[in-house]
Amino acid sequence: MTNLSTREIWRAVLGELQLQLPRSAFQTWLKQTEGVAHDDQRFVVEAPTTFAVAWLERRMYNAIQKTVEKVTQQPLEVHFQVKQEQGRQNGVDASTGQLPETERYTPPVRPVVSFNPKYTFDSFVAGPSNQLAYSAARAVADAPGTGYNPLFLYSGVGLGKTHLLHAIGHAVHPTGMSVMYVTSEQFTNDFITSIANRTTEAFRDRYRSVNVLLMDDVQFLSGKEQTHESFFHTFNDLHNSGNQVVITSDRAPKALALLQDRMRSRLEWGLTADIQPPDFETRMAILVSKAKNLGIRLGENVIELIAKRIQKNVRELEGSLNRMVAHSQLMNVPITMESASRILDAVTTDKSRDSIEPIRILEAVSSHFRVETSSLIARGRTRKIALARQVAMYLLIHELEMSPTQVGRLLGGRDHATVIHGAGKINGEINEDSDLRRDVLAIKEAIFTPV
Ligand code: ADP
Ligand code: MG
Repeated sequence: MTNLSTREIWRAVLGELQLQLPRSAFQTWLKQTEGVAHDDQRFVVEAPTTFAVAWLERRMYNAIQKTVEKVTQQPLEVHFQVKQEQGRQNGVDASTGQLPETERYTPPVRPVVSFNPKYTFDSFVAGPSNQLAYSAARAVADAPGTGYNPLFLYSGVGLGKTHLLHAIGHAVHPTGMSVMYVTSEQFTNDFITSIANRTTEAFRDRYRSVNVLLMDDVQFLSGKEQTHESFFHTFNDLHNSGNQVVITSDRAPKALALLQDRMRSRLEWGLTADIQPPDFETRMAILVSKAKNLGIRLGENVIELIAKRIQKNVRELEGSLNRMVAHSQLMNVPITMESASRILDAVTTDKSRDSIEPIRILEAVSSHFRVETSSLIARGRTRKIALARQVAMYLLIHELEMSPTQVGRLLGGRDHATVIHGAGKINGEINEDSDLRRDVLAIKEAIFTPV
């Protein structure tokens, strides 16, 4: 049984299917589906067109049904129907043209993009610490493939790498050039899936047909030789045909032990720019801009206080601001120097999250729930262990910012949909269930209190 909403279930199912299917198939047939209703017998899914419905029924029924069963832990029947309002716009079926004669998938002509609307060049505050990276990203967006190619950006966490990649995406997309954003984890998954499904050719076509490839966090490219080989060839093909490649990483190319030497020397063809933590003035400017976006007014002294106290990481800067806003809205009080200072105390004594090891979380969780740490990783599923495991998933994602895939790997090779489901469940229940809230708080305290 599960008490997830229909939408949440379907989101978990899609997360799982995205890993199993070639990207093109997922984008073409599943991306626009929605879970709309379920009871204890049926799960109803809507797709935009009758073609999509027919295709999903014919080709995907088993995979979808199994995944729904896995997520809900109930043997539900899956029922497909055409989306109510959008079903037959103008009597024309949007996907007709794309339906392949054969059973092969055709990659969409232009990959579907979804860039974070908040991450644009306009919302990026430039300053001495990030000027080179910012200008290079702009130049690339203005004329992809003609100047800095490849562009390699690196920095510590929370300093704007992902923001700049999305900004390039936003800027390039309207020109009609194809632009693809991918994390190196997705690339790895995609590649491995294509081998398993014998669709490596489609994989190759997909990646090598883009005009701008934005590859985020290359340090997570899996250690597998084959994946590197594939990335190397993708890179070479794109570069040789004048297409733009932008890569980010948490360290400089020479410190990337994983990259092969020949890849490293290729990177030298282009431009490498690092981003440093912003100076005081830039931190002030960032806070002013974020406050404006949040639609709140803050005294100059409060902004100064935050900018003085939080120095290394823009994400934290934003985080403290968000906390203050939440606090003032919840309590219905203005943000004063005093309340701001108290919140900053809490934020900065949270201990450095970077230094917390995942195992510390597992130990704190298991000791709180009085279960063996190893049982969190094993298959067992008593109620108590299942709850402890979900709390661990929640904390690993929310406190350490690990990805669901990483968490799944840590917890004995569970798949990422299970992790999303587990963490999501806790995230949802924590607001209503005060026992659970106390559990989680007690564990957090144990984790972040120095031993
Ligand atoms: P990274 O990918 O380097 O870890 P992100 O791009 O995710 O960092 O940035 C973390 C957060 O900080 C994002 O919300 C981003 O919008 C914000 N941010 C980082 N640098 C800037 C900047 N110079 N101006 C405005 N916002 C920034
Ligand atoms: Mg990032």
